[in-house]
Amino acid sequence: MAVIAEVITEDEIRVLDHGFVRLDDCMADDLSVVNAARVSFARRKDAMDESDEGLIRFLLRYRHGTPFEHNSFRFHVRAPIFVAREWFRHRVGSFNEFSMRYARATDDFYVPEPEDVRTQVGKPGSYSFEPVEPELAEATREELRAVYDEAYATYERLVERGVARELARLVMPVGAYTEFYWTVNARSLMNFVSLRAAETAQREIRRYAEACERFLEAKMPVTYAAFVAAGRVAP
Ligand SMILES: Cc1cc2nc3c(=O)[nH]c(=O)nc-3n(C[C@H](O)[C@H](O)[C@H](O)COP(=O)(O)OP(=O)(O)OC[C@H]3O[C@@H](n4cnc5c(N)ncnc54)[C@H](O)[C@@H]3O)c2cc1C
Repeated sequence: MAVIAEVITEDEIRVLDHGFVRLDDCMADDLSVVNAARVSFARRKDAMDESDEGLIRFLLRYRHGTPFEHNSFRFHVRAPIFVAREWFRHRVGSFNEFSMRYARATDDFYVPEPEDVRTQVGKPGSYSFEPVEPELAEATREELRAVYDEAYATYERLVERGVARELARLVMPVGAYTEFYWTVNARSLMNFVSLRAAETAQREIRRYAEACERFLEAKMPVTYAAFVAAGRVAP
């Protein structure tokens, strides 16, 4: 199994060959969950104690979700377009993305590591993914590189000849990298992690979700532990 995600700084985790998840900023701690829940009883805490940890476990287990919304993670992400497309389906959160209308397209493209070149076995809905022979893995990588080179050369030729970037970009494959900001609260982040760090998710987005999960764990350890204990189901 390939390395999931390599930490390069405290706030940034490298993902795939040219991607990353960087925690740009956050306002997130376990106490915000506790105080949001305890306001029902006109109570407020300045520090967590054991009863607060129990409260968070209770809220998670019985799916009282709203106290997990009073916080915010702002991620800066670099990912292939096909990963971003899956990511943008998560409507509860805010996105802003790099524009190929206004800026020159990147020439970074995703080429999977040989061990990530896979074949699918089984039926729709219950596929499993098996490694391919090394020759096929290498041939796949070469084919991808050839298409990327051709696509990018065409893009540059069109732009050079005066075609607008918004049209020249049509030749860009979904393996090209894009960048975006994603701001999300812990409830929605848990939903994302639950769905996208799961075995059933595509391997590439799974690696990004695993990176996001590490930031959730670091910033809201009690919430994260309760989420895992509750079977990784978002409240
Ligand atoms: C393994 C996998 C395979 C997938 N395959 C496909 C596919 O083939 N085709 C496809 O189109 N999508 C596919 N998706 C995307 C999937 O259908 C969801 O769009 C995506 O996972 C976002 O999930 P979400 O709606 O829970 O998240 P969010 O959009 O962030 O919503 C969070 C939660 O808010 C609530 N909510 C949000 N909007 C509404 C609403 N309009 N009405 C009611 N409640 C709402 C729901 O409780 C929801 O769970 C796939 C996802 C996964 C994980």
